[in-house]
Amino acid sequence: MTLGLDAGGTYLRYELRNQNKIIKASSVKSSEIGLSQYIENILSFEKNIKNICISFAGQVKDGVISSSPNIVVDRHNIKEYFELKYDVNFFIENDLNCAVLAEAKAHKSDNICALYIGTGLGLGVLSSSTLIEGANSVAAELGHIPYKETPFACGCGKSNCIELFASGTALKMWKSYYDVDESLTLKELKNSSNKNENKIYEEFEKALLYAAGTAITLFNPEFLVLGGGIMMSNSDLCDTVISKMQDYAMPIALQKLKIQNTKIQNASLEGAFLLKDYHA
Ligand SMILES: [Zn+2]
Repeated sequence: MTLGLDAGGTYLRYELRNQNKIIKASSVKSSEIGLSQYIENILSFEKNIKNICISFAGQVKDGVISSSPNIVVDRHNIKEYFELKYDVNFFIENDLNCAVLAEAKAHKSDNICALYIGTGLGLGVLSSSTLIEGANSVAAELGHIPYKETPFACGCGKSNCIELFASGTALKMWKSYYDVDESLTLKELKNSSNKNENKIYEEFEKALLYAAGTAITLFNPEFLVLGGGIMMSNSDLCDTVISKMQDYAMPIALQKLKIQNTKIQNASLEGAFLLKDYHA
């Protein structure tokens, strides 16, 4: 039996699967319990788990968690701990890396970028069947490329990240900055006659286009898949990206490229279940 767990900023969700059949699924708020303790609780009543596969919304390298802004990390050296204490194989990867593995399987592609905008802006890259990770597993952290100065501090400590324009967090911060009704949707901001409301949308769209153009320019993917909560509830943004991308990326990089919305409900969790095969 395989335990797949999506450790996100808001929820820890897990599924137990036996040969791809879901046996059990549950979730808890990420703030309520440490990740390691949560897994140990599951292991205490499920004795037949052989593989543990984790999608982690934070930085992780070789089975060791370096940091996470929103998850209670009660054990950093998590892979070694579980493999020594329990008779299990343990895999843990950054959530966008997991998501791009799931997208790659869905699109049958070896060269694919997953650009997800939810709370933050993240990118997962599979290039010639290899996840792009870097020396400290922070390669392709697209949300934090320098873009434009803002009055805000990003989670990474800088104040000029592109994520400060195109993310759920950015939308909240700019609405508060301009004293705009926080319940306004992206579409309402776009169609508003109020200058500040309209500006928040315009800046979001421009940052999204720069981010997409940067991903395409750096990695020359065959697919650019758009996902995450904000993109999934604004699926027409995909058409905007398609129609305007010639101004942000080289024509040759666009020749073989397909830009699409994700069709996977929880790509991070799906991708977690693929980690064993990826690392085989
Ligand atoms: Zn940043």
